[in-house]
Amino acid sequence: MHNADWLARSTRAVWHPCTQMQRHETFPLIPIARGEGVWLVDFDGKRYLDAVSSWWVNLFGHGHPRINAALVDQLGQLEHVMLAGFTHQPVVELSERLGALTGLGHAFYGSDGASATEIALKMSFQFWQQTGHPGKTRFIHLAHSYHGETLGALAVTDVPLFRQTYAPLLNAALSAPSPDARLAGPGEDGEAVARRAAAGLEALLAAHAGQVAALIVEPLVQGAAGMAMYHPVYLSEARRLCHQYGVHLIADEIAVGFGRTGTLFACEQAGIRADFLCLSKGITGGYLPLSCVLTTDEVYAAFYHADIRRGFLHSHSYTGNALACRAALAVLDIFAEDDILARNRGKAAEFAPLLAPLQAHPAVRHFRQQGMIWAFDVDTARGDFALAFFRDMLEQGCLVRPIGQTVYFMPPYVIEAEQMAMLVAATLRTLDALVGEGEGSALAEPAVP
Ligand SMILES: *Cc1c(COP(=O)(O)O)cnc(C)c1O
Repeated sequence: MHNADWLARSTRAVWHPCTQMQRHETFPLIPIARGEGVWLVDFDGKRYLDAVSSWWVNLFGHGHPRINAALVDQLGQLEHVMLAGFTHQPVVELSERLGALTGLGHAFYGSDGASATEIALKMSFQFWQQTGHPGKTRFIHLAHSYHGETLGALAVTDVPLFRQTYAPLLNAALSAPSPDARLAGPGEDGEAVARRAAAGLEALLAAHAGQVAALIVEPLVQGAAGMAMYHPVYLSEARRLCHQYGVHLIADEIAVGFGRTGTLFACEQAGIRADFLCLSKGITGGYLPLSCVLTTDEVYAAFYHADIRRGFLHSHSYTGNALACRAALAVLDIFAEDDILARNRGKAAEFAPLLAPLQAHPAVRHFRQQGMIWAFDVDTARGDFALAFFRDMLEQGCLVRPIGQTVYFMPPYVIEAEQMAMLVAATLRTLDALVGEGEGSALAEPAVP
């Protein structure tokens, strides 16, 4: 079978996510036959460097031998058992290890990121209901936030393109200013922007704290906003304010957890612990859907009671799936055995000179880096920039999907200097081809991650 066969069958039978399917009449899907390290290979043998880690989930490359081996071993023992009334070795070990790594000793599982958001929102709300604060029913999110697309998660997601259609179904949340360092005014640095945003948060809390259950944030990097990076002082300020006003802090580390920002969890860079930590995406190294919400003894205790109705009566069929937990254990083993965080620091330093020509490109604005994420904005009038860029890069064997005018690299950690150099060279060629030539549609397309 060749690419052409699969793409015809896929467009007929598969409704692809976050896609206007009609686009595929002119811009074909790419059927992938196999993966190997940073590479995805199509049915005609063409290779693509997966510079977005397959929508931010992959950590150590495709087809990792140790994750594969762990899964094969687990298949010989237990693929799945319901987690209500039952338990198993991988879920116990994973919960213990995540608890030890985060200081949050109670792990509740879901199957994807949005379900982790739902779980954290519901737990926070119910905590206040059960501790004498029934008026605390609202949530605060940051401007340009993204926390998933189920209805509860969408209510705290500030992406108009995703929200507008469903607005009548969403509970109104409160929006706090984003600490995005790009918002710096003259004479301001990233820290000043973060402190200004924290002052905005304080004003919101001062006005509404009695009605607010939790503040939800994406620590250090607002991914879907276009890799908006911010100073860690925002997180320490948010932590302090949440304590002061009696509001939970939910850290959504679905995208930034597991080493992406340079530390195992982004909150570590601010020296804070959230009341709820949401994990997914990289948790299984990009192998299987799994999410986890970790929380404190205090929250756990508020649900521990003789009355079943005071328990957290939430579940998904695949909660705590044994195969997914086993993949997650293999991921934690690889972090420890291969000293991944130190290696990534070395790689980021090694790659910096390779990326310098991009930073110096005349159309590039706000070049930024945090751990294993690199991003910049492109000064262009082309409304179709993201799609044109994506296409041009694919032709050169690179998978890079800009968000609006933001180009970012979020590659698997196994990427080598030679591959980064190839990515930068392709990006420079594409920038030169697309920017400044004055063609392309001026009609602005909405930004999509
Ligand atoms: C991807 C993402 C989610 C949603 O996860 P899904 O698995 O796509 O539901 C939530 N929050 C953040 C920060 C994300 O990047």
